[in-house]
Amino acid sequence: MRSASPLRKSVPAPLAAREGGRARPRVDRGAQRELSSMSSLTEKDRPIVQLLLNTGTCPRCILRFCCVGSQTLYRHPYKDLMKDLKEFLKKNQEKEDTVCFDVVDPPCKRIRLEHTEEGPDDVNHNGGLQQIPSVNNENTAVENLAVKVCNVCLGVLQEFCEVDFVKKVCQKVNSADYQFTSFVFSMSLPPQLSVRECAAWLLVKQEMGATACPDCFKPAKNKQSVFTRMAVIKALEKIKEEDFLKHFPCPPSSPKNLCVALEIQCNNGAVFVAGRYNKYSRNLPQTPWIIDGERKLESSVEELISEHLMAEFKADSFNFSSSGREDVDVRTLGNGRPFAIELVNPRRIHFTAEEMKGLQQTINNSSDKIQVRDLQLVTREAIGRMKEGEEEKTKTYSALIWTDKAIQKEDIAFLDDIKELKLDQKTPLRVLHRRPLAVRCRIIHTMKSEYIDEHHFRLHMKTQAGTYIKEFVHGDFGRTKPNIGSLLNRTADILELDVESVDVDWPPTLDN
Ligand code: ZN
Repeated sequence: MRSASPLRKSVPAPLAAREGGRARPRVDRGAQRELSSMSSLTEKDRPIVQLLLNTGTCPRCILRFCCVGSQTLYRHPYKDLMKDLKEFLKKNQEKEDTVCFDVVDPPCKRIRLEHTEEGPDDVNHNGGLQQIPSVNNENTAVENLAVKVCNVCLGVLQEFCEVDFVKKVCQKVNSADYQFTSFVFSMSLPPQLSVRECAAWLLVKQEMGATACPDCFKPAKNKQSVFTRMAVIKALEKIKEEDFLKHFPCPPSSPKNLCVALEIQCNNGAVFVAGRYNKYSRNLPQTPWIIDGERKLESSVEELISEHLMAEFKADSFNFSSSGREDVDVRTLGNGRPFAIELVNPRRIHFTAEEMKGLQQTINNSSDKIQVRDLQLVTREAIGRMKEGEEEKTKTYSALIWTDKAIQKEDIAFLDDIKELKLDQKTPLRVLHRRPLAVRCRIIHTMKSEYIDEHHFRLHMKTQAGTYIKEFVHGDFGRTKPNIGSLLNRTADILELDVESVDVDWPPTLDN
């Protein structure tokens, strides 16, 4: 029962769960063919239909409890379903019925309920015999039930399955102005539906015994709630039947009010945009730089790129990621650093290559601090390639270095001959507040020096990703060994640092 409960998620998809395992004996097929839309119901369903109809259950819930799996039937208008159900009862009552139990004297249109003393107060009692509404009389209980709020689904399968509500949803979706090619319709339902559902199953089980549809009536244990959906479901799984019955009317009482749709929400799946960025400013952080709630610099790389994407994709928010990051005072030159942006709940999702190029141009025209290239739509999975093996990738840097003692060209020339220099780097003092203390082994693959004057030279380095370059130059009080200072036997410091390339072959390079 639990797993088959069609009220848990979208309606009526979970019915398929029961449809699959359903191997119920069909009786009197000849008669069924006459029963118009109710041909999915068998003689065995009749007492269930009658019982639920009497206790204030709506036609679509009745179909669920009769294990009708085909969705077609549920799409019929409410009024037609009610009419057809009555027709079904009428036709069957006119027949000799050997399979159906609990039905006495069809011409009298009465049904005996075995536990009428436990039935709800609002059901008519007649000395153990319950009056079933005559299908020929317009002023019958069945007619009244047509407008009654369902005691199991609170009207979810009444009003919300009708054309008017579907139109309302369509209007909402259309006015939300989304681009999409497929969609999922999901509902968030009141937790008490689970309890009502439980009570209704219990009722059907009690009345019909286990013989009518054993597949449907798995052992039911039940209730007690703290009113969150999960709590209710957990509780329903734990509680014993007799305890459940003490706490909740069975059948569920008829609700006064229809369940209302609080909100119809539209959401689009995220789309992902990737590219490479150059950063030409030494005063621009990659992500917003906020310390103790106070903003230190007015912009950031991610904001300069994302604001245009947000506007074009009409998204709610974004998540920025990149292949590594540079310090606020470090420029990123060359082909730039790969980045990806997740655009959350975008309205617009279709962009041609030409439009993406235009978007890239818009970003580039808006700031001289950054430039982007290879801007393109990518899949969520592809972004993994940007992050994978990040440590193994190489990066190329250019550093402007100062030395305390004078240097000649010859003093630094030997650096060019050093290959695959192994470093031991203790976590730098400047990041120790946010990174664990560790000694990491990093490799400087190659170096090329460029003499400027007695106290300055430029050093080009190809390094393993994750190497702390500033520390490699000044030594970080001996925490990085060896370092440029120790190699030159001088005090060295770094004045400027640029990233010259990030060797990650993703995203694909585009023309122009
Ligand atoms: Zn219902």
